[in-house]
Amino acid sequence: MPDDPVVLYAKGDGIGPEVTAGALAVADAAIGKAYGTSKRIGWKEVVVGDAAQERYGDRLPEETKKLLDEYRLLLKGPLTTPVSKGFRSINVTIRMMLDLYANIRPVKYIQGLDSPLRKPENVDMVIFRENTDDIYTGIEWKYDSPEAGRVREFMKGLGVSVDADAGIGLKPIGRAKTERITRMALKYALENRRRSVTIMHKGNIMKYTEGAFREWAYETAAKEFAGSVVTEADVAAKYNGSVPAGMLLLNDRIADNMFQQVIAKPELYDVILAPNLNGDYISDACGALIGDIGVLGSANVGDTGGMFEAVHGTAPKYAGKNLANPMGMIKAAELMLTFMGWKEAASLIGAAFADAMREKKVTQDIARLMGAEALGTREFSEALVGYIEKG
Ligand code: NAP
Repeated sequence: MPDDPVVLYAKGDGIGPEVTAGALAVADAAIGKAYGTSKRIGWKEVVVGDAAQERYGDRLPEETKKLLDEYRLLLKGPLTTPVSKGFRSINVTIRMMLDLYANIRPVKYIQGLDSPLRKPENVDMVIFRENTDDIYTGIEWKYDSPEAGRVREFMKGLGVSVDADAGIGLKPIGRAKTERITRMALKYALENRRRSVTIMHKGNIMKYTEGAFREWAYETAAKEFAGSVVTEADVAAKYNGSVPAGMLLLNDRIADNMFQQVIAKPELYDVILAPNLNGDYISDACGALIGDIGVLGSANVGDTGGMFEAVHGTAPKYAGKNLANPMGMIKAAELMLTFMGWKEAASLIGAAFADAMREKKVTQDIARLMGAEALGTREFSEALVGYIEKG
């Protein structure tokens, strides 16, 4: 990473422009405080979503694609995606284009949030969701399309009957894609001294997709991480029920069980490794455990690039009203700085969040639960800059 990289940003739709402005200001303040003039980001705007549609008649214009391909690092505001109709998600298109195969979402309780749990401080998980495979590849046909008719005919030849009024989708889960996300999750867990990695799957029902994900993840660990990783079976058979010091535990849970486990016993779960759809669901469920998914960011990373975004969407009812909470987008900027290796700047942002929560300097979504006076989007971002500058 050079000391003055060009990083792309896209303001996004709805509340996107307001929360993105906050994220850029807070990231710049943290970089300035941590490194003086020796490091800086040269921000370059790219246009996507509603603004691009208005200006170029294309939600992801060629010029933006070219810049993404060249610079490969993007801080992205939320984008509108219609349900059941219309265009394909731009978020998914960018992930595919840059082969950002891991969606990484840290979920850690922040003191002061109104969690539904009795002991929310036990929530400290990082979800690694496979980002390029599974039913998200978009191989599906409308129930009455000629393609669905042909697939139905073909399946008849395999002895499988599909109702004539059923839409059809395919769920590919591949070995190479499973291996690379497993490798990334295990490497992360070892480098960051996490305790365990839990594979979340529905392999009892979907044996050759989710079941295979589980098998391949265990195989990757055995082949590439022998000596650093132990399985639950090893622990029971060879180590008297306790994980040996310095070793990482690899286990697995069936998806429905996983949901109740993270609610009832969050302290037992650390890094979660999941195929795309399970990962999508469990990420929000874990987010809810800390009381507010609005404060979470997520990283989409591959071997040669990254896209960082808030977990929330465009919240259109708050757009342009200075009412949105920019924490999710600022968290995305913090994750990006971590990914860039600028950890000192990233930790200044984390500390500023803690200061703000302690002094009840929050936006309306959190203020209404805390009984505090609400700051606007702009004023909250300025307060964070103030905490960072004060050090
Ligand atoms: P949403 O935009 O996250 O908003 C749902 C509700 O969450 C809001 O009404 C608001 O709740 C609260 N909220 C979310 N972000 C907030 C913030 N920053 N500050 C304060 N409150 C916030 O979810 P949605 O309504 O399901 O989706 C709207 C659009 O966003 C859809 O087109 C969807 O496809 C898109 N989306 C995009 C992304 C992305 O680009 N990565 C992700 C998710 C959704 P209250 O009403 O309780 O105040």
